[in-house]
Amino acid sequence: MNQVILDTLHSRLIARSSLFMLAARKWCPATILVASLACTRGLEWIQDAPNAVAVTTSGSWASMIYLARTDSGMIAIDLGWMGAAAALQRGTRRLDAKPSDVRFAFITHAHRDHIGGWPNVRAARFVLGLPELPYFMGTAQYQGLVPSSAERVSVTERPKSSDIAFIGISQDTSFVLGSDTLWAFVVPGHTPGSTVYLFRGILFGGDAVNYRPFTGFQGARPEMSDDPAQSRASITALWQRVDTLRVKFICSAHAKCARNSDELRRALAK
Ligand SMILES: [Zn+2]
Repeated sequence: MNQVILDTLHSRLIARSSLFMLAARKWCPATILVASLACTRGLEWIQDAPNAVAVTTSGSWASMIYLARTDSGMIAIDLGWMGAAAALQRGTRRLDAKPSDVRFAFITHAHRDHIGGWPNVRAARFVLGLPELPYFMGTAQYQGLVPSSAERVSVTERPKSSDIAFIGISQDTSFVLGSDTLWAFVVPGHTPGSTVYLFRGILFGGDAVNYRPFTGFQGARPEMSDDPAQSRASITALWQRVDTLRVKFICSAHAKCARNSDELRRALAK
């Protein structure tokens, strides 16, 4: 596993190995469709204000933004969708900070519903799977049925290459943030560069983790994914590389969390 030491206090970033660098509020509208998406689940387990908070955007679609203070500055995991600017304000206020204080934004994947707040934290370094970069920049298009159709209807605002600085990872990488370590594991399938992050006992599974009220937790949704079979294989292989004893909770990118268990991990492979 690669290791990267992140230290913004001294504007220092040390990268080793093959790292490639480039410059809740709950809201549940009363409709049947919305109710079926179930808003959030178990989000209270990962709330730890004033150290860390999880907020959601996009109403019941519940795209999650997780914010945490570390010795190396504030981090975000994913950046939500519609209403991300307000959600970032709300979340950072609970940490006695502001959105511009975010130093590192760890992105599970660049589907539009997880990067909405990028203009509000543009001074941060953006960490994501290297294959995800052209999709984040809008120079490549996802193959998943729903994401590709949505992009034809309305084009998502994407950064110019000069707007933000990226750290693209091509293999599992640990990031040292003072007394915290964040582990990034590559899990291609939902999108080519999908990545999950383990931080303070919480595995942020992106959309490789999916929850629906009647089916419970499962792997990536076929209609949303470039390659759902590859995503399931990636999640199965993940458990060979991650110390599952370190994982207390597993959360989807849509704010659905559960306690880690053998049963849950088996369900995510289905
Ligand atoms: Zn997605």
